[in-house]
Amino acid sequence: MGRFEAITAASFIGGARRLPARSTIEVRDPGRTRDVVGTAGVVDAASVGDVVAAAAAAQPAWAARGVEERADVLLRACTIIEAVADELATTLTRENGALLPVSRNEFDAASRVFRFATEHALSALSRPERHAGAGGSITIERRPYGVVAAIVPWNAPVVLAAQKVAPALAAGNAIVLKPSPYAPLAVTILLEQIANSLPAGVLNVVHGDAEVGAALVSDPHVRMLTFTGGATGAKAIIRNAADSLIRLHFELGGNDPALVLDGADLESTAQAIVDQAFRRCGQVCYAIKRVYVPRRHRATFADIALDHLARYRIGHGLDPRTTMGPVNNSVQVDRVNTFLGQLDAAGVPIERRGDAVDPDAWEDGHFITPVIVPDAPSDAPVVLDEQFGPILPIVAYDDVDEAVEMANATQFGLASSVWSSDVDHAQSVARRIDAGMTFVNGHTLTPVAQQFAPFGGVKHSGIGWENSSVGLAEYLEYHSVHLPEAS
Ligand code: NAD
Repeated sequence: MGRFEAITAASFIGGARRLPARSTIEVRDPGRTRDVVGTAGVVDAASVGDVVAAAAAAQPAWAARGVEERADVLLRACTIIEAVADELATTLTRENGALLPVSRNEFDAASRVFRFATEHALSALSRPERHAGAGGSITIERRPYGVVAAIVPWNAPVVLAAQKVAPALAAGNAIVLKPSPYAPLAVTILLEQIANSLPAGVLNVVHGDAEVGAALVSDPHVRMLTFTGGATGAKAIIRNAADSLIRLHFELGGNDPALVLDGADLESTAQAIVDQAFRRCGQVCYAIKRVYVPRRHRATFADIALDHLARYRIGHGLDPRTTMGPVNNSVQVDRVNTFLGQLDAAGVPIERRGDAVDPDAWEDGHFITPVIVPDAPSDAPVVLDEQFGPILPIVAYDDVDEAVEMANATQFGLASSVWSSDVDHAQSVARRIDAGMTFVNGHTLTPVAQQFAPFGGVKHSGIGWENSSVGLAEYLEYHSVHLPEAS
């Protein structure tokens, strides 16, 4: 690895000024924890108020520009993202641990998100909806909320921020975004560049922890809050918003089941499922987090999965030999170890596979050798809870009804997948799963899905949707003007 300059990311009022830091967040490289990647400047509650006030002052003129003009401005964001992607992908890998190509792809995804959100806004907002009928006519306008606050996590901060910033701005809102203290750098540098191409105060960033997040929730100028993260933060936000009564939107954790149906090709299915489970070291909200396999195939499936996992090379995300990076932080390490401790206490065997890219550097980062639980009890915590780390439990089932019942028997409902050589059968099983998204013979978003599929979950996995025209609609209110027939 080369030598890197330390990076500074400030809280800012977009296009106007950076804010003085009350304190700083030190961001460490999860693959080499002695390295400080950079610092982010934390603001106090009063400064949060200043930023929100600047957003509130800027928003009416931004909304008044009209959707075509906003679209022109926002499409420039795609060019900005593409121009900085190579350089910032390295920063992103150094702060969140993802493989470099994965970080690089995140910028392409973010660019697409800006383009799609702009296109949806053009088609939804170019002209108001009118209806005439019995008794008169109605004109329905869609209006932005005003100031939207956004809070994002560390696992994919660039694309997750884009999924909020692009539709919020395309709809005519101003936005104040708080990144995660674990990965605030790349997203801030990118958003500051985009903000500089927009009117002052339209796109803003504040750094800090839950306290700064809470200040956003209770600021009287904030009319909507959109949050991606875990259930604990979401519940605190709901409590904090009880007085401010703002519109809330949540994208939360997942515990995605993969259902392998009888007759699926075990070799290719097991390999693909392993790759979808361990991408970003298992730290993807919609990664596969449990697998249900027909009882008579379970042992064979587990053997194939373990053989495939044995090819994994665990190391730093910038090292081209690495196929799985570290987990992001020590809280994640503890989380994984808690699940492993529970399995050990219950006497459930686990298998580890994969080798260190650089055994001498193993202790330098938050590295974990990935784990498969080849025969997990269906009610084990590692099956019922979100691990968000490199552990994959395999659960045997006897018939499809039982598999569907087990898949639906958690509080989560983000994504899911069904694997079969009979696509019609797979689709009929897919429709029985309680989730926001079910993939057939895959478990990842294609660009067309990013464009048109509402992204989100049911039950405790979320309230509301991102991407697609539905995701844009989250950032809009309605105002209808009614004319009686005689007028
Ligand atoms: P987290 O909830 O700890 O933190 C997310 C963000 O919320 C951070 O910016 C954090 O500072 C802030 N925050 C935490 N408590 C808060 C509070 N009380 N008030 C205001 N802000 C608060 O989550 P994390 O560890 O960063 O991310 C992991 C979780 O996020 C997992 O559960 C994962 O599944 C979920 N996630 C969901 C999606 C999705 O789209 N559904 C995407 C990525 C991650």
